[in-house]
Amino acid sequence: MSELTILQKTMRLHEARWWEPENGGRAHCYLCPRHCRIHPGQAGFCFIRVNQGGKLYSLGYGAPAALQVDPIEKKPLNHFLPGTRVFSMGTAGCNMGCFFCQNWDISKSRQDQVRSQAVTAEDVPLLALQHGCDSIAFTYNEPTIWGEYVIDICAAAREYGLKTVMVSNGYITHEAFRDIYAQVDAANIDLKAFTEGFYGKITLTHLEPVLETLEWLKNETKVWFEITNLMIPTLNDDAGETRRLAEWILGRLGPDVPLHFTAFHPDFKLRDKARTPPETLHRARAMAREVGLNYVYEGNIYSDGAHTACAGCGELLIRRSWHEVIENRLVDGACPKCLLAIPGVWSKSAGQQRLSKMGRSTEEKYGHLNL
Ligand code: SF4
Repeated sequence: MSELTILQKTMRLHEARWWEPENGGRAHCYLCPRHCRIHPGQAGFCFIRVNQGGKLYSLGYGAPAALQVDPIEKKPLNHFLPGTRVFSMGTAGCNMGCFFCQNWDISKSRQDQVRSQAVTAEDVPLLALQHGCDSIAFTYNEPTIWGEYVIDICAAAREYGLKTVMVSNGYITHEAFRDIYAQVDAANIDLKAFTEGFYGKITLTHLEPVLETLEWLKNETKVWFEITNLMIPTLNDDAGETRRLAEWILGRLGPDVPLHFTAFHPDFKLRDKARTPPETLHRARAMAREVGLNYVYEGNIYSDGAHTACAGCGELLIRRSWHEVIENRLVDGACPKCLLAIPGVWSKSAGQQRLSKMGRSTEEKYGHLNL
């Protein structure tokens, strides 16, 4: 029995968007810049988009492989509903091939190799509310590759006043970008390095499409977004590269896009690299601030670089310990001392107020889920 026949027998197939038929029954997927041309019975690079009988299907639809409640600071987002919980979900597969992936158990698996659970798009917000969350994050693996499910969950989330978040590598075509990012409220985009050499060798993709995505976010949407740069010793932690990255952000996106420098730990195919020394993050943060970025953070270490300070007067506004908010002194999104409005999304939704209208049916239906 072929691999795809086994999948057919075990999964409900959902027809994909962002594809067109080609000669010989091939399907051209234009969801991401890989532009896979997929033969019948085959899957794309990301594993979860398959051609069956000349049609493209999304195997990730309605089948999350990871469900968890996280602090929003873990995404990381520091200027988006600080101190709240986010219902976080991922599927199998990925459109990048990062050697340092920290979720490789799902991102490098096919859908039939992970333990997924059936959850309808309409029920995701109900689960989020049951678990005291103010938002839903598409995360852990690359959510672009299950964009159909993302869009349907976003529509359901709006009904309940819940916000939605993409945690993405930014590797997406403009066609799909317009459709997906018209629906979400916030994003954290990984800018994994600032050299084509790193992107080509270590992620098996290219830098330029990711930079384009960041500019589309800035110029074409109202999505709140922050950027993460995971610093890997000897591969992307060169001071000159960090300076160029910060200068590009300042010039193309402006000074107020938060930038997170985060620490790497050895994983997947990069187990021979050392952990990132805290000094590397301190140096990168100092450099990005010197370049002119207003909100620069250090992550995956205990550091004063996790706090938010006012870009106007320097007043400490949000004090954090790792992913926990210890103190939030913002008043209506502004500095209490100099009254400068701090860029971000600070007010909660009314979602929790609708919990009482849900009834107990979802709780009973998904009571077995292990979150
Ligand atoms: S989303 Fe998947 S199938 Fe589509 S082009 Fe990208 S890697 Fe290929």
